[in-house]
Amino acid sequence: MTSAPVTQTLLDIYQRLLNRTGNRNWWPVRYDSGPDAGFEIAAGAILVQNTTWSNAERGLANLHKADIWGYTAVYEATEVDLVEAIRSSGYYNTKTKKLKAFTQTMVEEYDGIDANLFALELPELRSRLLGIYGIGEETADDIILYAAKKPSFVMDAYTRRIVDRLKWKVGGDKYSDYQRLFESNLKPDVELWGDFHAQLDGHAARVCRKQNPLCDQCVLLDLCPTGQNH
Ligand code: SF4
Repeated sequence: MTSAPVTQTLLDIYQRLLNRTGNRNWWPVRYDSGPDAGFEIAAGAILVQNTTWSNAERGLANLHKADIWGYTAVYEATEVDLVEAIRSSGYYNTKTKKLKAFTQTMVEEYDGIDANLFALELPELRSRLLGIYGIGEETADDIILYAAKKPSFVMDAYTRRIVDRLKWKVGGDKYSDYQRLFESNLKPDVELWGDFHAQLDGHAARVCRKQNPLCDQCVLLDLCPTGQNH
């Protein structure tokens, strides 16, 4: 186990990944959401749970095509229509309930305007999101960082895999333990944190793969005990 990374190491890693792939412009927004500016990101963050982004993306496209688009539209849609639209994202019955719960909160408590929710201070916003059925830490941080544009570093299985393979000292096994590694070493910067998370995800998906990581092609090899012993 190596010590926890310092700021310069993290920024160096970000720069190497950025140099390799360029800015990933994450989170992608494909439709004009109008006053429901964060809807597409929040709905995507729910649909991508336990599946690939391409499956979630198909669910979003089908929602848009079916004209079930925006907090109010999802809130008013029948469960049957919602299930049909998001079938491609898997776990569609559960995800329908999650979309319903989120949009119910948005419509009944925030007039269907996400700026009203996003105006909360970050700790309160995070706590409010976590109180909604179906929104866990990763989904909440997706919404906070990419839709509300407030600095909350997103952790996921991809990021944890890279941290574990770099053998950094984490201090625990919880989401917050991994998140703290980044948040305590990086100045709050929504643009940087948004792209850094996307870079780590892309790297884990293409290079630091679960099976057969491509260590000989990895720009982090000289920092990585796992890769050097591979
Ligand atoms: S060297 Fe290998 S194990 Fe280490 S980060 Fe790169 S791909 Fe992953």
